[in-house]
Amino acid sequence: MKESEANLNAFTVDLEDWYHGIELPASEWGRQERRIEIGFYKIFELLERYQVKATFFVLGWVAEKYPQLIKALSSAGHELASHGYSHEKVYHLTPAQFREEIKTTKKTIEDLSGKLLVAYRAPFFSITEKSLWALEILAEEGHTIDCSISPIKTWRYGIKNCPDEIFNITEPNIIEFPVSSFNFFSKRWAVGGAYFRLFPYVFTKRALENRGKNGRHSMFYIHPWEYDPAHPKVPMEKKAYITHYTRLSSTLPNTEKLVSNFKFDTVSKVVNNYQKQNGISNISINVLQG
Ligand SMILES: [Zn+2]
Repeated sequence: MKESEANLNAFTVDLEDWYHGIELPASEWGRQERRIEIGFYKIFELLERYQVKATFFVLGWVAEKYPQLIKALSSAGHELASHGYSHEKVYHLTPAQFREEIKTTKKTIEDLSGKLLVAYRAPFFSITEKSLWALEILAEEGHTIDCSISPIKTWRYGIKNCPDEIFNITEPNIIEFPVSSFNFFSKRWAVGGAYFRLFPYVFTKRALENRGKNGRHSMFYIHPWEYDPAHPKVPMEKKAYITHYTRLSSTLPNTEKLVSNFKFDTVSKVVNNYQKQNGISNISINVLQG
């Protein structure tokens, strides 16, 4: 049985190809086998079948190369959001480069969809203590929701002091919907991505159930390449290899269980719903600085 409206969760997809998720330099992208549509249509059709609306954080590079995907998403009523342009981690960009990326991406996607884009997610959740300056630029460029901060610290990202709930950052004025987490073996893990594959499905299921019981909304995240087990295998650092390639064939059947068991909608819808029910608490950016 599905959870009630009170426990609405966000279903999010980072729309990028397999070679964007492995830290391959952009100069190498043109030489890789293009497979984004394989995984894209698997998740697109599943969402259609279960009548779930999701938020797609689109890489600007992908929007330029695959305008048909943006148009299909827009016609189907999904929310279009920004994943930046180059897939470079925010803390490796200068503020000027970051501003340029988000401006270009927002305009490209808005022109293709004819709809206003408000939400943003950084590649590799790379808004960290080193790159909190990006929030001000996002607000200045018309983004009202950010989904880039993880309360779980990993070798790539994370802010330990980040609340695990939707909140408003007062200056700059921007709503943060951080990565949702759960505890297991006295460690914190994320709802979605690699953890959806590394652990049995029941872990994610229990996490959403427990969070829902406590009145907390969850945000699930996934990528098209996680629905494409046959995509090329390239050598890389062991920890990156494990998070990228483990149990890719489990993603599609487990996502079907997930959308059967829980109620999902777009990031904007979940944020609006939360605002109506609870009101959003304000926190100062200093809290994130630790
Ligand atoms: Zn990404």
